[in-house]
Amino acid sequence: MPAKRAISANSESVTGAVRVCILGGGFGGLYCALALHQGLKKSPRPIHITLVEPRDRFNFTPLLYELLTQELAPWEIAPAYRELLKHTVVNLRQDWAEHIDMAQQRVTLRHGEPIPYDYLVVALGSQMRPPATPGSQTHTLPFNTLQDAEQLERRLNDLEQSPQVRVVVAGAGPSGVELACKLSDRLGSRGHVTVVDRRGEILRSYPERIQRAAARALAKRGIAVYLDAAIESVDASGLTFGYDGQIRHCQADITLWTVGTVPRSWLGSNQLKPTLFGQCPVRPTLQLVDHPNVFVLGDMAAMPAPGRDRAPTTAQAAYQAGPAVAHNLLALIAKRPLKPFFYNHLGDMLTLGQGEAVVCGFGLCITGRLGAVSRRWAYWLRLPTHAHRWRVLKHWLGFKA
Ligand SMILES: Cc1cc2nc3c(=O)[nH]c(=O)nc-3n(C[C@H](O)[C@H](O)[C@H](O)COP(=O)(O)OP(=O)(O)OC[C@H]3O[C@@H](n4cnc5c(N)ncnc54)[C@H](O)[C@@H]3O)c2cc1C
Repeated sequence: MPAKRAISANSESVTGAVRVCILGGGFGGLYCALALHQGLKKSPRPIHITLVEPRDRFNFTPLLYELLTQELAPWEIAPAYRELLKHTVVNLRQDWAEHIDMAQQRVTLRHGEPIPYDYLVVALGSQMRPPATPGSQTHTLPFNTLQDAEQLERRLNDLEQSPQVRVVVAGAGPSGVELACKLSDRLGSRGHVTVVDRRGEILRSYPERIQRAAARALAKRGIAVYLDAAIESVDASGLTFGYDGQIRHCQADITLWTVGTVPRSWLGSNQLKPTLFGQCPVRPTLQLVDHPNVFVLGDMAAMPAPGRDRAPTTAQAAYQAGPAVAHNLLALIAKRPLKPFFYNHLGDMLTLGQGEAVVCGFGLCITGRLGAVSRRWAYWLRLPTHAHRWRVLKHWLGFKA
């Protein structure tokens, strides 16, 4: 029973206990913490696990769009960490990690006491690309977190009485396309949705079948798409961009900014030399090259992937890496050999409006309502903890959750 090895939440320095500190409670960090808890019974030594995360709720980002159409409720896709970790030995510190001192093996927090560690897991994800377009910081809304979805919801509610609502989405990547389709369905005939991107195609890194399905979904909703468009500036009235040799201004009540994220930078004074994409170089086991007691995973790490130069920066990759790091941590503690991590691409899924999605994998592509049902269940399987999945399942089946 893992609980036998539980260490009191306050006993940071219990003699004999191995101190594991995990920074970031997203797809990499939370799933690593849960897998580590599960694996405690295999550990020859007691382990004290601390998870540092500033938010109070986990954000299951792939399903954030469903909040806009009320297809899902916040509690389903953003369960509270306290609930998720209730029956585990994981000690949650709701705080920001500010600095990692790898020589002293200690993490400094913004508010609380520093955390000494024997093993460190770093999974801080990505952040918005620093703004380069004039006005983008002040006049656009991001869409990365539950908080962003709630902010957009408030803005939409303010516009509820308007006869028309004009939305411009900057970026035709997955977030831009999914947002545009969901918002178009939510607003109905009052909505005028436009997507603008500097590249020449939508969903650049996606398979052609997904691109085609998305193009059909955008066209069916009458969403205007401007590609090869150079965004010049944003102000309170909308977005200005160069297109086809002319400068255009697209009026907007809401401008959404989905033009990309960059991996969070390393928090240590010993700056690691990042890869071309700003990620930390890691060994195949996801350990730092010069610090075998430090693991980095998820968006922040250049994780190996067969047939690719690195794993994509997706929940799918971080979700697979979390348990792999937990396995290697337990192996390191037990002085067993570590396993290299191999990212396994299971396919691609995108929501393309209310009750519509495209799901492609293993040579098959499902679209429309069947796609939406398949996507919903595929994500249900990946929700954290049995207890939360069970609660959501009961709710979907019409029982009191
Ligand atoms: C709207 C949206 C939709 C997406 N849809 C999909 C999809 O459909 N499929 C897919 O595979 N991927 C999707 N992604 C990408 C996916 O969310 C990320 O690739 C994935 O979350 C990366 O996991 P991670 O563990 O590296 O980081 P995250 O899951 O982002 O977790 C990082 C955590 O670190 C915390 N943190 C940040 N700074 C600090 C600090 N200083 N101290 C402590 N904690 C900190 C954050 O609060 C966060 O909880 C989507 C992303 C977004 C924003």
